[in-house]
Amino acid sequence: MNNSAKVNLIDSLLLVSRYDDKEKQIRFEKIAEIFIWIALVFSVIVAKSPFGESLDNLVSYLIIIGIGLFALVWFRLIPRKFSGNAKNFVYSVTLNLFIAYLVVNTNGLQSFAVLFFYIDMLRMAMSTPLRYTTVSILFVIGLIFGLAIISGGLVHIELSLAIFHTWGLIITAFFGRFITGESAIAKENENKATLEKEIELSKIKDEFVYIISQKLKKPIQEINKSLEGIISGYSGSLDDESNELLKLTEVNSDRLDSLLNDLLDVSKIEQGSLPIHLTDVSIKPIVGEVISTLLLDANSKRISIINRINEEIAAKADLDRLKEVLVNLIGNAIKYTPEGGKITVEASKESDLVTIRVSDNGIGISEEDQKHLFEKFYRVENESTQFIKGSGLGLFITKQLIEKMGGRINFVSKVGEGTSFYFTLPRYRW
Ligand code: ADP
Repeated sequence: MNNSAKVNLIDSLLLVSRYDDKEKQIRFEKIAEIFIWIALVFSVIVAKSPFGESLDNLVSYLIIIGIGLFALVWFRLIPRKFSGNAKNFVYSVTLNLFIAYLVVNTNGLQSFAVLFFYIDMLRMAMSTPLRYTTVSILFVIGLIFGLAIISGGLVHIELSLAIFHTWGLIITAFFGRFITGESAIAKENENKATLEKEIELSKIKDEFVYIISQKLKKPIQEINKSLEGIISGYSGSLDDESNELLKLTEVNSDRLDSLLNDLLDVSKIEQGSLPIHLTDVSIKPIVGEVISTLLLDANSKRISIINRINEEIAAKADLDRLKEVLVNLIGNAIKYTPEGGKITVEASKESDLVTIRVSDNGIGISEEDQKHLFEKFYRVENESTQFIKGSGLGLFITKQLIEKMGGRINFVSKVGEGTSFYFTLPRYRW
């Protein structure tokens, strides 16, 4: 037997119900209940038939009623939430005591009733962790030897029968466990293989998106360049309508370009190949630079942007990635704030961290949408956002970039009042 086969054998014995699988316990309990009710019906038929004439009617009916009451309490009145290994075990002990009673009152260890011990051991072996199965088997073996000793038959015959049943019970439990464990291992392996396949497929998809985005980037840049050339060279000689169309084409082509940039970022993030170069960065001038690139958009909506950052605040960050984060957050604040609104950018320092905050008095985000905000491609869709363009990638990328630089991002928002995004970065001390 080689080493892996050894591991497999032990594994398959241990694997059954290693984790307390409540669902499975409940299913087993339901099956046990069905069998008990069927057994009770049979018992009544046997007691009533000529075959049961030799039985003491009173005792038989008392037992049948007793078991019926037990089944009622056990399966119906104790709520399913108590189902589990412990309840299963107590049930097994009670059941085996009853089987022992049957054995004593029929033909001793030679009685067919011994078969019920086997059935219950098989059930325990297939549904409970090893320690429960072991204790149950020891308990039943104890019962069997007890029965052998107290029975009126020849002791040496009864003891050989007890040894025979002990061995039989061990083999039954072993195979029950082994087969169940093997199928659990097969299922686990199948899940692992499916997961690996999914990871592989997702990798292929990421590579595909990366290659396509990269290939599209060049022609888009060429189109943008030509458009700029046409607008600067010929816009004077074109009528208003053509100029309008050209402007629209330029806006859309810019959008396509930034979407491709976002897709490239996402692919790199997911492939783990996004380079991050941390340097010492003074926050105020960077924020000032980003605000100036967005001023045109803000002015077109008469939105004021206030940079309230103190000169001395500095962080350890990747300069270009930090700019990208700020463009996303301030850009969103502009996009989702109505005309005449106000945006403030602030920063504070604690012992090891710098916190940067971008706040607006815009449309805000509902509690339901807040749960999904950092998900890939998630966009809020309502009346206030229906005409605002976007890909739903900005905040996903922003969060990833901040975390890659060693920070965290969060936000507070109220519909109709505004939103405040804040993120941390490791602090740099001058
Ligand atoms: P998008 O490209 O749609 O702007 P983002 O990932 O940047 O994608 O943002 C996701 C969603 O979060 C947006 O669709 C928007 O509804 C909401 N959102 C982001 N920033 C703000 C903000 N400052 N105010 C209100 N809503 C915002």
